[in-house]
Amino acid sequence: MTGAHYMDSDSSSTPPVRVRLAPSPTGFLHIGNAFLALIDAAFARRHGGRFLIRIEDTDQERFIPEAEAAIYDGLRWLGLEWDEGPDAGGPAGPYRQSERLPRYQAAAAELVGMGRAYHCWCSPERLDEMRRQQQGRKQPPKYDRLCLGKTEAERKALGGYSERPVVRLLMPTEGQATFQDAIRGPITFEYALLQDPVILRSNGFAVYHLAAMVDDREMGISHVLRGEEWISSTPIHMQIYDAFGWELPVIAHTPLLLNTDRGKISKRKHPWAKMSWFREEGFLPAALLNYLGGLVVHVPDPENVDPSVDRELFGFDEIVEHIDLQRIGPSGKIFDLDKLTSLNGQYIRRLSLGELQDAVHPFLEAAGLHVGGDPKLPRALALEHERLRRLSEAPYVLSFFFRDEDYDASLLIPKGLDRNRALELLRAARREIDSVASGPEGWTATALEASFRALAERLGLKTGRERGQLIGAGVVRVAVTGRTAGPPLFETMEVLGDETVIRRMDEALNRLLSLAA
Ligand code: GLU
Repeated sequence: MTGAHYMDSDSSSTPPVRVRLAPSPTGFLHIGNAFLALIDAAFARRHGGRFLIRIEDTDQERFIPEAEAAIYDGLRWLGLEWDEGPDAGGPAGPYRQSERLPRYQAAAAELVGMGRAYHCWCSPERLDEMRRQQQGRKQPPKYDRLCLGKTEAERKALGGYSERPVVRLLMPTEGQATFQDAIRGPITFEYALLQDPVILRSNGFAVYHLAAMVDDREMGISHVLRGEEWISSTPIHMQIYDAFGWELPVIAHTPLLLNTDRGKISKRKHPWAKMSWFREEGFLPAALLNYLGGLVVHVPDPENVDPSVDRELFGFDEIVEHIDLQRIGPSGKIFDLDKLTSLNGQYIRRLSLGELQDAVHPFLEAAGLHVGGDPKLPRALALEHERLRRLSEAPYVLSFFFRDEDYDASLLIPKGLDRNRALELLRAARREIDSVASGPEGWTATALEASFRALAERLGLKTGRERGQLIGAGVVRVAVTGRTAGPPLFETMEVLGDETVIRRMDEALNRLLSLAA
């Protein structure tokens, strides 16, 4: 194996920075992989290097064809770009492992030839039995090397034999392996605790340990940035590098993303394990990128600090400027959905009304609110803009502007009032509405506000709480919107128009009347 075949220029100087994301297309893009991709992309850019994607699809049983497209979609949506990959091409291709199988087979054969690996014909049944016995003796599972040093004929005579062998890497049995992790510092392993891993399956497909090492080498990867779950495999990889006489790349195991309970983000339990969830839930890619970036870089003296969330707004360029493997730190990064949601709200507030309208459009359509051309939409959206934290909230917070909604009539009786008092307030409000609708100032929020202020006084509503029972979260708001909370009420009524408001108030009066006194 010579490796790095694509490099045709001067190789005596420091190798160029080349990093890769090596996802397995076994489902969807996991948020942890997007996090890693951001670190890769920023690190490559920081050092004038290249970021490539390699699809690790050698595990054919778990392979899902659509998953590869989902990886690209998710990363592109987040705003990341890569220089080489199955779709982008590049000098070190092919970039799909299933298209590189002969390379791994040759590497395995070479390792066997050097005495650094051996064929193993043990049947799955024999291996199961061996494991059971080891468990019974309370020993850690470890291949007993029955096949080591035997010819096929010798091995066949012993039983527990299967026709098509796997290849196992011969690991040292004593001593230690130490490597320098660029994020974690030195990490040491005892070889005595490790077993001879399978590196080539009986169907000729390479296992990750072999395929990834061959590819990292041939693709000239200078920095292997990968998840911390691979730490314990590193001594295996070091043996492969050692056997071929290759120099180890820089290795850095990135911290995991954790939930706020410090548990792993699991695809079964947490919908946000899926990158696509963020898009579906109305997060803006810039907010997610900013949030993930904030978990690995510190951007000093930010321009825009929102004290309510204690998180600064920045983009990819700032992440590039500040990324530093040594400052990432080894411990798991807490992925706090609430913080991300607040940050998303900030990004939404920075959109222009037109941009916001475009952004919420698909959400409204999906919810059956076909109101794209309705002149009320921009006005309603302007009232909700401040409070929106996810685009997916748009259908709920906007729907009552466009359709009469069903609500529980008991909502019309605010806390602390009875039905008759609620009726009294609503009737008075209804008369007020009529006079504004036909009044000289016309149907405006200002006119409505002035007339309701006067009404509150006439009704003797002195405290804020009492006025709230009429307007804020009270009987008029419920009558007009079907909700106890929402945007400023008089502006809302202005946008709704007098006809709708009058119709809904009459309907509310009927509902109240139909409740038992
Ligand atoms: N296919 C492996 C994974 O998805 C790649 C690990 C690596 O980056 O080396 O976890």
